Amino acid sequence: ASVKGVPTTVPAPNRVQDRTAPEPPAPADAFANTPDTDPSLAVNRGWGDGIRTRMEGSALGEQTVREHTLSTPEQVDEVIAAAVAAGAAWRALGAEGRAAILHRAGDVMEARRGELLEVMGSEAGKVIEQGDPEVSEAIDFAHYYAESARLLADVDGAEMRPVGLTVVTPPWNFPVAIPAGSTLSALASGSPVIIKPAKQARRSGAVMVEALWEAGVPREVLQYVQLTSHDLGTKLVSDPAVGRVILTGGYETAELFRGFRPDLPLLAETSGKNAIIVTPSADLDLAAKDVAYSAFGHAGQKCSAASLVVLVGSAARSERFRRQLVDAVRAYDVGMPWDGSSRIGPLIGPADGKLLSALTTLEAGQSWLLKPEKLDDAGQVWRPGIRDGVRPGSEFHKVEYFGPVLGIMTAGSLDEAIDIVNAIDYGLTSGLHSLDEDEIQQWLARIQAGNVYVNRGTTGAIVQSQPFGGWKKSVVGAGTKAGGPNYLVGLAEWADAPATS
Ligand code: GLU
Repeated sequence: ASVKGVPTTVPAPNRVQDRTAPEPPAPADAFANTPDTDPSLAVNRGWGDGIRTRMEGSALGEQTVREHTLSTPEQVDEVIAAAVAAGAAWRALGAEGRAAILHRAGDVMEARRGELLEVMGSEAGKVIEQGDPEVSEAIDFAHYYAESARLLADVDGAEMRPVGLTVVTPPWNFPVAIPAGSTLSALASGSPVIIKPAKQARRSGAVMVEALWEAGVPREVLQYVQLTSHDLGTKLVSDPAVGRVILTGGYETAELFRGFRPDLPLLAETSGKNAIIVTPSADLDLAAKDVAYSAFGHAGQKCSAASLVVLVGSAARSERFRRQLVDAVRAYDVGMPWDGSSRIGPLIGPADGKLLSALTTLEAGQSWLLKPEKLDDAGQVWRPGIRDGVRPGSEFHKVEYFGPVLGIMTAGSLDEAIDIVNAIDYGLTSGLHSLDEDEIQQWLARIQAGNVYVNRGTTGAIVQSQPFGGWKKSVVGAGTKAGGPNYLVGLAEWADAPATS
């Protein structure tokens, strides 16, 4: 069936899918959430009576948080059946009816902004500066997908048909905006949704889900479940009733999902190792500020974070840029979200493995421009670090660390800098700081990344203006971009309307 007339602003295409490099196996507990509520609670009606939980250090202290935990295969079946059954009535509401509820969901999230900030701070270490735009993004998704659904409801006689039950598996690092975006898009297209939140951030997602229920999304249509084992997660994702799985997470997790079922209808945004190139024509002071924010906002725990800066030509030798960068980073207060001045919060857990080694150990030829500093015994709170002298082909050039450490690389020319960036397996975001139009065009023509930013940081894509999604190993499966005109098309099939004459 045709999709004639559908807005066709095509984002950077997902042209390269490099599947040759073997990946380490994903952790066996990718799904298992720690059950901390009674698993015998009635399923598919939403939640039980709730548990009392103390949010450590939080201003609100004790709160009631409701959870719904599935611990048997039968319960998973029951939730799937309930969601599928509820889907028909949801679809029958029509695009207009669903759009009205989604707009209301945006309004309810606005009204509950403070609560969302509170829970994200307590649970995921989000400081206000990071959490506030995240809530705005979730609200934008609600209004944007509501309008997209109305726009796409009937295109030149082709009718949008939702793909059906959508399973959403979001990450912990954007625990409100990412599950909200995935869920609202599927709901807008007419599909029921089951969300399995990340175990570290399930309360944040729960408050978002409550807001959607409050706005009128039926509890059966939008289910929010914890799972007690990896096997139950495998079962949920691979069930033949599932029409779409929306995953945001590591590349390895996406590969793991694909292993469950060869034809799994997966839409996955995965890892990133992102760089900002700075040429001699750039406003170096602005570049330093943008690099600092892109690298260390949310302690570097974003797929979109800048992990490398590549200085070109005379910028490579610039003491001024280095000084400005260090000053910008030193100006950030590091601390807990509820200390109002904090701009960099704690890591989600104590730094370990490859991140700990990136925070403590240099490779050949590297030196600390700013040495990372551990501020607590556990190793969860760090002043960021910047290493100079990162060489092409080194580990730091290629590996995603997802933490507060940045590397400086140098190149003789812009072309060489682009080669350095394109040699990375991932291609999620990329930045250029340059005031030279020819350089900008040269970079745009060659750079391999889904989201490309000129004279701006690499984080904080804005719904509708900057649809978000990757290229190369930053995307697996259907490569449409969140918050863009093609996203809903990716969640629907199209049927020609019956001929009228
Ligand atoms: N959409 C977010 C941004 O533009 C990044 C999401 C992620 O880190 O997964 O910063």
